[in-house]
Amino acid sequence: MAKLLEGKAVAEEIKKKIKNQVQDLKQAPVLASILVGDNSAAAAYVKSQAKAAENLSIVYKLFQLDKDITEQVLIDLILKLNVDKAVDGIIIQMPLPAAIDYKKISQFIAPEKDIEGMHPENIGKILFGKAKLIPCTVASIMELINSGGIDLYGKEVVVVGHSEIVGKPLALLLLDKFATVTVCHIGTSKAGKLEEHVRGAEILIVAVGKAGLVKGEWIKEGAVVIDVGINRVADKIVGDVEFEAAEKRASYITPVPGGVGPLTVTMLMRNLVEAAKARQ
Ligand code: NDP
Repeated sequence: MAKLLEGKAVAEEIKKKIKNQVQDLKQAPVLASILVGDNSAAAAYVKSQAKAAENLSIVYKLFQLDKDITEQVLIDLILKLNVDKAVDGIIIQMPLPAAIDYKKISQFIAPEKDIEGMHPENIGKILFGKAKLIPCTVASIMELINSGGIDLYGKEVVVVGHSEIVGKPLALLLLDKFATVTVCHIGTSKAGKLEEHVRGAEILIVAVGKAGLVKGEWIKEGAVVIDVGINRVADKIVGDVEFEAAEKRASYITPVPGGVGPLTVTMLMRNLVEAAKARQ
């Protein structure tokens, strides 16, 4: 039976380090959070981020904008926060109203304040192995792997999902650790080759958003399974991998919920402190 890789325990250890780093700063770091409209999921993220910030002595400043604002209003606020010396990091809460293009807007955030690590400059730095601000989900995955003492060198790592926020930056970071990386996506599934790739994975990371996409019987004996997926099925949250069958074959596995999820807010705060350290 697999050992569980649980985000909460790993997060607690990292929070201790963040607390020490905050104490060493001249001023408490300031996170500017922009919430547009009244989406309930975005409001829930704000609540959990504000709580995490408070516990770490981080100042959380919320900027609430009406759901009907134009993109220009949002851009103007970002430009103002970019030059505000009191602000160390900026986050735009998702989802945004349909009329606002996140990809376009997020590029206005100054790269040194981009604590989500999604500015093209920060993504580009991943390619050169020089990234300080790494997308939070990807940083969480790397920390979970690290927490299990799992060596990536020379391992067959299969990433399922090639999104800009998870799969693609993750593949680059794994390459830097000398893993042999295969990235699967919709094309792999449509070609009927997903099972074949998953069966060969010594380390499998799935970030798709489809419950039960990866069958438990496909998991290689002793493999490490990181399930990033979040799916609501009959009032329960499940991942993309069939957990019960997979945990019988894997050596390590993340539960869903409880695996990657609990770490991401901590990674956001770690990025904020990195940004504050670099600026101060
Ligand atoms: P996206 O929808 O942006 O990306 C999903 C990826 O999966 C795409 O690359 C897509 O390919 C690929 N895909 C779709 N269907 C298949 C298939 N049948 N076989 C193989 N690949 C497929 O999602 P995200 O990357 O943002 O998130 C993925 C999952 O992770 C979601 O469930 C999300 O909720 C969860 N998540 C969890 C986080 C956490 O903290 N635990 C944080 C972020 C995300 P294509 O685009 O070509 O169709």
